[in-house]
Amino acid sequence: MQQYLDIKQDYPDAFLLFRMGDFYELFYDDAVKAAQILELTLTSRNKNADNPIPMAGVPHHSVQQYIDILIDLGYKVAIAEQMEDPKKAVGVVKRDVVQIVTPGTAVDALNTGKENNFLVAIDRDQTSYALSYLDLATGEFFVTSLSDFEAVVDEISALKAREVVTGYALSSEDVQGKILETQLNVLVSQELIGFDNADLIDYSLADLEIAVASKLLNYVMTTQKRHLTHLQAVQHYEIKDFLLMDAASKKSLDLLQNARTGKKHGSLYWLLDETKTAMGTRMLRIWIDRPLVSASAIQTRQAIIQTFLDHFFERSDLTETLKGVYDIERLASRVSFGKANPKDLLQLAQTLSNVPAIKGVLTDMQAEVLNHLINQLDPMPDLHELITSAIDPDAAATITEGNIIKNGFNATLDDYRVIMRDGTTWIAELEAKERENSGINNLKIDYNKKDGYYFHVTNSNREQVPDHFFRKATLKNSERYGTEALSRLESQMLDARENSASLEYDLFLQVRDQTETFIARIQKLAKTIAEIDVLQSLAVVAENNHYIQPDIIKNGQEIHIINGRHAVVEKVMGAQEYVPNSIEFDAETMIQLITGPNMSGKSTYMRELALTVVMTQIGSFIPAEKVQLPIFDAIFTRIGAADDLISGQSTFMVEMMEANHAIRRATKNSLILFDELGRGTATYDGIALAQAIVEYIHEHVGAKTLFATHYHELVTLENSLQHLKNVHVATLEANGEVTFLHKIEPGPADKSYGIHVAKIAGLPSPLLKRAKVILSELEADTPKLQTKTVVQETPTEMQQLDLFAGSDELAEAVRNLDIMNLTPMEAMNQLYELKKLV
Ligand code: ADP
Ligand code: MG
Repeated sequence: MQQYLDIKQDYPDAFLLFRMGDFYELFYDDAVKAAQILELTLTSRNKNADNPIPMAGVPHHSVQQYIDILIDLGYKVAIAEQMEDPKKAVGVVKRDVVQIVTPGTAVDALNTGKENNFLVAIDRDQTSYALSYLDLATGEFFVTSLSDFEAVVDEISALKAREVVTGYALSSEDVQGKILETQLNVLVSQELIGFDNADLIDYSLADLEIAVASKLLNYVMTTQKRHLTHLQAVQHYEIKDFLLMDAASKKSLDLLQNARTGKKHGSLYWLLDETKTAMGTRMLRIWIDRPLVSASAIQTRQAIIQTFLDHFFERSDLTETLKGVYDIERLASRVSFGKANPKDLLQLAQTLSNVPAIKGVLTDMQAEVLNHLINQLDPMPDLHELITSAIDPDAAATITEGNIIKNGFNATLDDYRVIMRDGTTWIAELEAKERENSGINNLKIDYNKKDGYYFHVTNSNREQVPDHFFRKATLKNSERYGTEALSRLESQMLDARENSASLEYDLFLQVRDQTETFIARIQKLAKTIAEIDVLQSLAVVAENNHYIQPDIIKNGQEIHIINGRHAVVEKVMGAQEYVPNSIEFDAETMIQLITGPNMSGKSTYMRELALTVVMTQIGSFIPAEKVQLPIFDAIFTRIGAADDLISGQSTFMVEMMEANHAIRRATKNSLILFDELGRGTATYDGIALAQAIVEYIHEHVGAKTLFATHYHELVTLENSLQHLKNVHVATLEANGEVTFLHKIEPGPADKSYGIHVAKIAGLPSPLLKRAKVILSELEADTPKLQTKTVVQETPTEMQQLDLFAGSDELAEAVRNLDIMNLTPMEAMNQLYELKKLV
């Protein structure tokens, strides 16, 4: 217990799993808590003492599943192993912590390989922040500088980190600590000291970047406690190298998951994912998360996709070949962690054997844009040869019991195998000889672990046992005998078996160590294959859905999307149902103010533009007849009204924070989508703020902006704001019935149609009538909105249709309806009667 307490002292914030024989034990509070979480039996050590020690344990062979549960819940687990053979130990067996598993460093836990598990570190000085992150499963390692904590928060949530290492002291009481723990829901760890490593850290970077990267590295070293060859040198990046989108925007645009369901289905990722490899899937997610801003980089992707579209047959072959590619990026890390088994190496070899075919089909396409990828496809013939000559295709998964290495790979191993194989023949011969000698017809040689090889003699034949047999064991109905010859054979065979197993183990480790020297090349190959996979995926999606290649106009000011569709909505509802919409901004237009009834298609139109921009800057093709776009540097959205329940902010507060975020950060090259801004507050407040925000964007920001509003009053802004244009959703109105055409047209909507929507929703007629009366009273009283120039047109006449005009009888019938006391059936009948009256 003293040893336990000494070790535990160093790991106060982790569950300490303390190896004792076949179990990992937990003590004290760890035991009490773990027993509850993991549903273990809580026992105690020194039961009869005055202070029994709470204790709980898990068997060593199933420890991983328990670790996974704890990690998934955001805990850390320290694993203390026995560091010497208990039989040989003098005194207490030496024990030490060999690894600390944390949510950000878990490589096996719950990780299917479809997503990265990024561990993030942050650091700060007086003026700015630096952020570094790595994925221990793939070895990727990045660093950047950020201006303020808000940007840090955005980046952490974009990375979906589960653990953040701070390079400075931070308690849960601090504002930042609170934001990290409660808003972002990450485990906060601390690492104040950096680890110097000239191979991994680029010392020409900014001081703060060096600091944060080396602290992150130190955290990994102190938790993993091993040299990790698969970690790649840190790469510097700038967030402005990518299309900037904050977490809320990514969420509301359904990029990686559908915001409503939280599922992949119904997201852009779902639409674009025709990848065939796990590496490609991960890369696609990153591309969606970080669209490009470099026109030439985007155009390169487009050119490759076009090449894939032009070569249907070659591309089909390519797709087939990719199916045989395993996740070699993660295999590489398993090699580095010393966890790779024979199957892993075989999968690596299998993948390498596909590389020449991939190279072949790409070469057949004869396109210059592919040269870069072709040159990076490195088949590593020497590694392929090593693995295929060494590892048996039917190798066992365990590496200590033999049956891994192929015949012919090692002469000594082959000799052992001859002995083992011939030994079986020798035994058979000895058995036949002694059977004949003794005359015992059913005499046979058997083997078990305890007695080794023995002659099996049933009791009825005991009399006939020859003199040179000696008894090994006595059973109820039989006896087991040995002979000198049998013992000799046995020891030869056992030696061969044992020696060969340990030789195979050594040989396997040698092959694995040699594989480790290829890690950097394997990782590079993995990235190249992933890129090819994502590009073929985008080509397949473009072809299946008849997308076109968008034109990027560098430094352009205009937007032309002719008959565009919202790609995901179209996919979900079917192309026939979807009404295409053109989105056009000439160089003079900055803001489109979209009016129209609820449920008419305003939000869908706005998202069509945002999604088209994101897809274009990923490199994807687009559902439209023609697309011309400038490059955007950022997208800001205020869409939907999902309350931020966790931090307890009201809808309106969230709305205003997001609006603030947008107008402060947007440039004239940004895209802003404001959907029904101001909905969360009282009408006058809402209108006032909405108008002021539109004016502010117009005067000070200059970003391309779509502003959908139910405040019909705002349409007069077109008179005062030169760069603002009204558009509206067309509606068809006949006989008092309103149909939404989902078609966007120039000019303002002439009515709010709220009452029509209420009617469609089935609200009682007297109520609707009353609403109309109130509306006209309100409109009569409302003072005109002040636009800056105060040029006011006469407001459009109120012309809600009067349903009841000219029919007293009908009105009377409706008035007499006792709605509260109608059954649904009666209501239907009444409705039928009313209709007849009409
Ligand atoms: P609004 O924002 O005006 O309330 P939405 O954009 O949310 O309206 O659209 C409401 C519904 O109308 C959508 O769920 C969709 O089913 C349908 N819709 C919108 N735009 C289109 C379109 N272009 N083609 C077909 N259906 C559409
Ligand atoms: Mg809407």
